[in-house]
Amino acid sequence: MPELPEVETIARQLAPRLTGRVVRDLRIHDPKLRSTRRPRLRNRSVVQVCRSGKRVLVGFSPAAPGGAAIWMAVHLRMTGRLTWHPDGKAPERDHLRARIRFDRGSLLFHDTRRLGTLTWHPTPEDAAPEGVDPLSPALTVARFASMLAGGGQSVKVWLMRQDRLAGIGNIYASEILFAAGISPKRSVATLDRAEIRKLLGATRRILRRAIRNCGTTFSDFQDARGVTGSYQRYLAVYGREGAACRRCGRIIERFVQQQRSTFLCGGCQR
Ligand SMILES: [Zn+2]
Repeated sequence: MPELPEVETIARQLAPRLTGRVVRDLRIHDPKLRSTRRPRLRNRSVVQVCRSGKRVLVGFSPAAPGGAAIWMAVHLRMTGRLTWHPDGKAPERDHLRARIRFDRGSLLFHDTRRLGTLTWHPTPEDAAPEGVDPLSPALTVARFASMLAGGGQSVKVWLMRQDRLAGIGNIYASEILFAAGISPKRSVATLDRAEIRKLLGATRRILRRAIRNCGTTFSDFQDARGVTGSYQRYLAVYGREGAACRRCGRIIERFVQQQRSTFLCGGCQR
């Protein structure tokens, strides 16, 4: 499933391609997406493309002067793909759920498992997730410490709670904990101030580096150009069960936490 860096990659790639484009029409091909009330998009232009949590947001100008803007939020879930097609060629129809045609080019939403969502909002805030964005400057060490305080969960499970931090999934939770030198099994209650500081620093460092590498590709992820990410070559522990730790040489272990695989190096993580 795409996590924060993959969604940020898609939003960054779409922004220069979509901004200023004028909508010709919106076609919803999947009846499952028709239940949500859909706005008139024709002749609106794209004013902004950004990420909010794990969703890609596309802002459209008001339909008429004095009217209201509208924001489209796409959550890709397991197998969703949002891709930009600059030419007018007929799109691949298999699993095509929605398509927006612009004055130049088209934006396509494909999704084999159809678990992704496409929703409409009056403001970007309305589409914002409950959890805090881990890259937001508003997330200070003090705030992070107060969010962790009183928790009894293991730190890996806590990092993946979307009502706390938005956007971290299974891959980056394992990588962040390796970078911070903290065992995924630790209860958040046992983290001292220095470890909390390290954990926040590692969270930002890993997510930013993944964004620079256009995300990690496992199974279905493709960016807006239909290209796969390249961060997988930097993975230190995720998916490396049985291989040697590149830092200390110890064998990477895998175990299951809440039905999800967790990877750790017993030499580097305490
Ligand atoms: Zn190690």
